[in-house]
Amino acid sequence: MSEGPLYPLRFDPIYQYRLWGGRRLSGLLSVPLPGDGPVGEAWVLSDRTDHQSLVANGPLKGQTLGQVMEQYREQLMGKLASRFRRFPLLLKFLDAQQMLSVQVHPSDAHPELIPAGDTAKTEAWVVIEAAKGSHIYAGLRPETTASNLRQSLDDGTVVDHLLGIDPKAGDAVFIPAGTVHTLGNDVVVFEVQQNSDVTFRLYDWGHIDPKTKEPRPLQVDQAFACINFGASNGGLVAPRVEMAAPVEREGLFDCPAFQLWRVLGQNPFPVGATAEPRVLVGVEGSGQIVHNGTPYAFGRGDIWLLPAETGECAFQPSGEVTLLEIAIP
Ligand SMILES: [Zn+2]
Repeated sequence: MSEGPLYPLRFDPIYQYRLWGGRRLSGLLSVPLPGDGPVGEAWVLSDRTDHQSLVANGPLKGQTLGQVMEQYREQLMGKLASRFRRFPLLLKFLDAQQMLSVQVHPSDAHPELIPAGDTAKTEAWVVIEAAKGSHIYAGLRPETTASNLRQSLDDGTVVDHLLGIDPKAGDAVFIPAGTVHTLGNDVVVFEVQQNSDVTFRLYDWGHIDPKTKEPRPLQVDQAFACINFGASNGGLVAPRVEMAAPVEREGLFDCPAFQLWRVLGQNPFPVGATAEPRVLVGVEGSGQIVHNGTPYAFGRGDIWLLPAETGECAFQPSGEVTLLEIAIP
């Protein structure tokens, strides 16, 4: 079945200026960072009209993810082909040198807050690097209400309402839509999220954007309309070990929008799945993906999309490797 036009596809990162960003993505990704200003985000798999990921290898090199979706949707998406016109996930690395805005994304319960063509946004982070003093906040304290949270925006005490995590490399944090969240103070994460750009900023720490000399706009009323007050299923996730040999395979996230596993080891193991696409993300180490006898070199910071029609492939590590595998349920 695997003599079709598709093969394991690698994509180049799209770097984004952010006032809260840094230069640490240069140590993770092989494509050099632009300029010398702060780069906060590398969009590593994006089917957004304004920022399209480009295939970096093979006969389809230079094509956008959107073009591949349009021309080869069946071969790429397999049994998911009829459900999605756009690739449903947006994948990024973030280098949060300073704190991001305190923000929230809407859930499907608030269609009035989601522009036509966009979706709700549940997201999740896997911490790549963290420092002493790095912060992640995910969710509100149980005693927080709409009225005392609104008061805290005026007082500058919003952080007192947030549930904090002292992140360390390898931590997994789940942020369901409706969860107030932020991160920063020198932390690098991999981010998986629904393919949506709908963010409502609640508070921005008094940041002034040096490009515009202005504070960035807030969307406090929209944010309050979609905040999930009360108990949340977000926050730090305990990995579930699903397999110990030939490599360790842990389930980190399992929600209606995405599933994500972490694979650690040095023995060969299978990646990809029949009739559905999978994405691989290189966290540590290197190796090769082997499809139909052809090896594809896989390195740290790499993003590979395994089309449905390539099915299961073999991964051959060169020594100890850590990678993430992502599925669309
Ligand atoms: Zn967010």
